[in-house]
Amino acid sequence: NDSQNTLGALIRAVADFPKPGVTFRDITPLLADAGGFARCIDALAEPWQGSGVQAVCGIESRGFIFGAALAQKLHAGFVPVRKPGKLPPPLVAVEYELEYGRDQLQVRSDALKPGERTLLVDDVLATGGTLAAARELVERLDAVLVGASVLIELDALRGRERWLGDTPVHALLHY
Ligand code: 5GP
Repeated sequence: NDSQNTLGALIRAVADFPKPGVTFRDITPLLADAGGFARCIDALAEPWQGSGVQAVCGIESRGFIFGAALAQKLHAGFVPVRKPGKLPPPLVAVEYELEYGRDQLQVRSDALKPGERTLLVDDVLATGGTLAAARELVERLDAVLVGASVLIELDALRGRERWLGDTPVHALLHY
C-alpha cells in the first residue's frame, strides 16, 4: 500500500543491532523528513478520527515522539508511560517479561481519569510485551482503552496474539 512504499522508504534496516541476528528498524530517517513525518502522523491519526480519544499514552521513549504529535492531531492530552525512576510518586507500575529478565512501566496514578478514552502509541510492536503492560496500566486507572497504534509491526514475532479481545491495534507498516 501507499504507506508501506512512501513511509517504508524512510525506515532504515540495520543488521545485527542491538545484537547479532536482530534486524533493527531505525525510524530516525523518517523523523528527519518533514513531509514523511507529517504524513506518518496523519496516517496514524486517521483510524481514530471521530472516536472521541481524550488521552494519548506514549511509551518511552520513541512512543513519546509519535504520541505527542498524535495527541495534537486528535485534540487529546498526552500522557507519558515511563521506565522506572523517571516519574515522581504517586505512581502505578506494571512489571513485564523481557527476553532476559523483567522490566517495569509506570504512569502517574492520576494521569488518566476513570472512563477517560485512551489510545496507546509506540513505534514498534515486536513481541507485544510492552504494549500489553501499558494496556494493564490503562486498565488499572479505570480508563477506557480505545485501541493502540504503532508505526511498525514485526509480524513474525506475533505480538498481536498477546493482545487479547477485540480492542483494535493499527500498524502502518509491516515487516
Ligand atoms: P516488544 O515489547 O513488543 O517486544 O518490544 C517493543 C518495544 O521495543 C518498543 O517499545 C520498541 O520501541 C522497541 N523495539 C523492538 N524492536 C525494535 C526495532 O526494531 N526498532 C525500534 N525502533 N524499536 C524496537
